[in-house]
Amino acid sequence: MLETDVFISGAGLAGSIAALSYAKAGRNVTVADPFIDSYNNQKDYRTTAYLQPSKLFLEELGVWEPIEDSAMPLEVMKIIDSSSAKNGDKIKSQKEFKSTEISDLPFGWNVKNSLMRTALKRQIDRQSNCKLINSSSATDLVCRDSMAYVKLSSGNTVKAKLVIAADGRSSILREKAGISIKTQRFGQKALAFAVTHSTPHKNISTEIHNSGGPFTLVPLPDFNGKPSSAIVWMENGEKAKRLMEMETKSFEREMTVRSCNILGPLKLASKRSLWPIISQIADRLYSQRLALIGETAHVVPPIGAQGLNMSIADIKFLSDLDQKYPDQLGSIDTLIEYQKNRIFDIRQRVAGVSTLNRISISSNKLVQNVRAFGLEHFFKVPAIKQATMKLGMGNR
Ligand SMILES: Cc1cc2nc3c(=O)[nH]c(=O)nc-3n(C[C@H](O)[C@H](O)[C@H](O)COP(=O)(O)OP(=O)(O)OC[C@H]3O[C@@H](n4cnc5c(N)ncnc54)[C@H](O)[C@@H]3O)c2cc1C
Repeated sequence: MLETDVFISGAGLAGSIAALSYAKAGRNVTVADPFIDSYNNQKDYRTTAYLQPSKLFLEELGVWEPIEDSAMPLEVMKIIDSSSAKNGDKIKSQKEFKSTEISDLPFGWNVKNSLMRTALKRQIDRQSNCKLINSSSATDLVCRDSMAYVKLSSGNTVKAKLVIAADGRSSILREKAGISIKTQRFGQKALAFAVTHSTPHKNISTEIHNSGGPFTLVPLPDFNGKPSSAIVWMENGEKAKRLMEMETKSFEREMTVRSCNILGPLKLASKRSLWPIISQIADRLYSQRLALIGETAHVVPPIGAQGLNMSIADIKFLSDLDQKYPDQLGSIDTLIEYQKNRIFDIRQRVAGVSTLNRISISSNKLVQNVRAFGLEHFFKVPAIKQATMKLGMGNR
């Protein structure tokens, strides 16, 4: 039997950040995942916009410095409504938010997931108190007052004071703990990929609403000497699948139209990847000796860069609790405190992003007109604009 302070199931971005955080604080950490490294890196062409609080936390963990030069600052956010044009290629209304209106710093920094995974793995490998178990998944959980026992697919059992479930939206450990979830399905999928274009992006992130969901361009560093952006294109499932299979030239034409041509003709600079879109929230964030983090606890559609940023807030809170009560790792009191402090913020953001997504999907003319009207008039009130921007940036 292996014995450790903290056992983490799942070495995705959330599990890896949690592992590093506990290891850097001096805890013995064991992480198990069926696919550490190679598999996830090859399939993940997404990027993540890290908001100010997340960047600060990753800096403290020493994981920001190695990726700093490739992190693209996001200084302006533009929202466009293009729903009036038949082909969706004309701008009906637009609004710009400048980070300088509320802060000296950018809204966030965009980083390729593959790069962040590599940087995290390198840092974790340097920690002698952090053990990664590859090709192994958590299959069962038994919790007692003083310890938890996790069974691995390799046949081993791990004994830990605290178990962190970071094994994703279909978490086995969440199920074994009897924690139920509420899921909303939107019939949508997101295509994620990188492009190059002729017009510089000027560090502006643009979300274009028509129907089917937003089409979002997020700045990346130049690629092969050309301006480059990451794109998340949300559409109903069937159309997304068709776009995924479309030959390159037609796909490039179609996405250039969907982008209202704001950056000139778009050229594919990576493979396309497809992601199912749901909202999901766990009824509880804990049970005896167990804490849920990341997509095990909450999933939101990729709008406003909330998903992983919420997960980093989970990890930061748990790490702060461990600093505050070093003798109580995994105790029921600390887990209840985790639940009390995180659940309201999580519920609010899951509900908010899900509503925005439903509004963005709509092909109903009335909803589209109200959306465009809201964009034009709602944000004319400076207090509303600033409060919305601060909340979106991960401030509480
Ligand atoms: C298109 C798109 C764009 C996004 N953009 C942003 C953004 O800009 N900003 C932002 O904050 N968020 C963003 N997100 C959300 C963000 O990508 C996710 O929140 C994040 O990747 C989820 O990480 P995770 O570690 O919680 O889950 P996962 O990545 O699902 O990791 C779970 C891990 O657990 C492992 N696992 C599964 N079962 C077991 C088991 N039984 N035992 C052990 N291990 C197991 C899996 O192999 C995997 O490695 C985006 C999401 C999408 C789809």
